[in-house]
Amino acid sequence: MTARICVLGPSGRMGRAVIDAAAGRGDVRITAAVDRSDAGGLGAEVADGVRAIADLDGGLVSCDVYVDFTSPAGTRAAAEAAVRHRRAAVIGTTGLGAGDDAAIAALAEVAPIVIAANFSLGVNLVLGLVRQAARALGPEWDAEVVETHHRAKRDAPSGTALMIARAIAAGHGVDYDQVKRHTRDGDVGPRPRGEIGVSAVRGGDVVGEHTAYFFGAAERLEISHRATSRSIFAAGALRAAAWVAGQPPGRYDMLDVLGLQ
Ligand code: NAD
Repeated sequence: MTARICVLGPSGRMGRAVIDAAAGRGDVRITAAVDRSDAGGLGAEVADGVRAIADLDGGLVSCDVYVDFTSPAGTRAAAEAAVRHRRAAVIGTTGLGAGDDAAIAALAEVAPIVIAANFSLGVNLVLGLVRQAARALGPEWDAEVVETHHRAKRDAPSGTALMIARAIAAGHGVDYDQVKRHTRDGDVGPRPRGEIGVSAVRGGDVVGEHTAYFFGAAERLEISHRATSRSIFAAGALRAAAWVAGQPPGRYDMLDVLGLQ
């Protein structure tokens, strides 16, 4: 079966990557593209016979699954509309707040959704590896996550860095919110045992780099992932879209799609 896809934000970096990645695939087909009413490129043909429109409901009725890499406000509006249409979703937007999460949870009650802060195979493997390393090494090895992204990225730390940090906390068997430290400034004192630090670097056109450090007494382990093209996220999101179209309502992640759960 070919899943019909509505791409949100076709003028954005990821929206364009999703449209490019869909070309030539048999399992998905772009049938709609919806952007903000003030976005450049509305009315332009973005895929074979598909023009960018601002009518969200119109886009949702002509697809099986919508793919959303937009902004927290865009993701919330789309989820609220998709509830009405019981439309399946693939959501990659990061920096979501509690209200956005609630809208997504409401959609997952009536439709299947895949949500992930990172759709690459490599990063999803990293999540398992850091968890295993943290479990084996324990909190005596100081764990830190450093991420680097292009200068246009709005949210920090990245959603992927937070997923990695949470996987380390899970390996330590602790609640992440009790041990997290997002950046340091001023007289922060000696590093408390068990703290998990996350730092963000911004610059240039870096697609996305993440390293988990484990600092031992006289040795250091580093687990790194470097993305050099958005095409890997786009391909992962389309694989998720083809998969989610046949699932019962609920919230899934990339580990479910990849069969790694
Ligand atoms: P971008 O700014 O290049 O594109 C955003 C697009 O969304 C634009 O087309 C914009 O017009 C549209 N948009 C924004 N707000 C909207 C709204 N309220 N309604 C409708 N459309 C709206 O951004 P980008 O670099 O493509 O990233 C988009 C999101 O995807 C970010 O949150 C980013 O962190 C995330 N991202 C996730 C992954 C992943 O694998 N999960 C990978 C890369 C980026």
